Amino acid sequence: MSNLLEEVYAIPGGEGVALCIQCGTCSASCPGADRGLSPRQIIGMVRADMREEILSGDSLWLCASCYLCTVRCPRDIRPTDLMHALECLAVRDGVSSKRTRTPLMYRTFINSVINNGRVHEAGLVTRFYMRTNPLAALKMLRLGLALLSHGRMPLRARKINGRRAVRTILDKARALAGTQ
Ligand code: SF4
Ligand code: SF4
Repeated sequence: MSNLLEEVYAIPGGEGVALCIQCGTCSASCPGADRGLSPRQIIGMVRADMREEILSGDSLWLCASCYLCTVRCPRDIRPTDLMHALECLAVRDGVSSKRTRTPLMYRTFINSVINNGRVHEAGLVTRFYMRTNPLAALKMLRLGLALLSHGRMPLRARKINGRRAVRTILDKARALAGTQ
């Protein structure tokens, strides 16, 4: 298994982790930090090459992409991008946590975009809940019906003309991330 730090350095912007002064501004801003490892801790563990602990844990998947860490970092490091790059490595290595459903949500989302050229929300939530917890979908029933009645969540997918081009872009992105 290769050195995690070297792989992170190879990610665009990844070399920024060397500039981290462990000030904790990112962690203080992070809405997910109290539920798992904070961005500051993860950067410290990347530098300590704690590959297994990071990639097989739940913390990466708690990132809500709010970008607060990124806009507030005094060293212009981009922890958000790092979190998602580490998620890609976890998926590529087949070690992502079995306790999180986020990778399945991402895959369901991408498949919806590949099939339609855009997200079809009704199909996305139906497939996701059928593969995870169909009973949990009942809690969303009221919201779903309200969206349906206002025409905000059509049952039939509307495919766009340029979906082949969208698929090409996504295939390229997945090849670059090594998650195809
Ligand atoms: S805010 Fe920036 S410098 Fe401070 S701990 Fe987070 S990543 Fe490191
Ligand atoms: S972008 Fe992710 S890691 Fe950064 S503060 Fe938001 S939730 Fe935390």
